[in-house]
Amino acid sequence: MGKAEKDWKLELTAEQYKVLRECETERPFSGKLLYNKERGMYVCAGCRNKLFSSETKFDSGSGWPSFWDKVSEDSIETKTDRSHGMTRTEVTCKKCGGHLGHVFNDGPDPTGLRYCINSVALDFKNQED
Ligand code: FE
Repeated sequence: MGKAEKDWKLELTAEQYKVLRECETERPFSGKLLYNKERGMYVCAGCRNKLFSSETKFDSGSGWPSFWDKVSEDSIETKTDRSHGMTRTEVTCKKCGGHLGHVFNDGPDPTGLRYCINSVALDFKNQED
């Protein structure tokens, strides 16, 4: 069973809660990790699950941190999202179910994928840590 929403509200910041638990989207170009170019691991801000490596991060120009691959099969899940009059593929954390962002088919080689992820849903761990 997942954690109760009231517990998430206590653990997360208001901004993290809005994105991870209520599927909101942060303003583009507002995220702290957008221009981060350090080597390391992007983990879920809710549960620390390993999501994306710095080696797959690229500048998509979208205003959100973008990656062309997930770290492993345990990182994320996807499902169809028909909200806001669009059909998109939502990306959630496979461990805690938190909303991370969406994935599109206009990314670079070798996957052709663009994981468009809210910075506030991520924490970054330096390779040295
Ligand atoms: Fe998570």
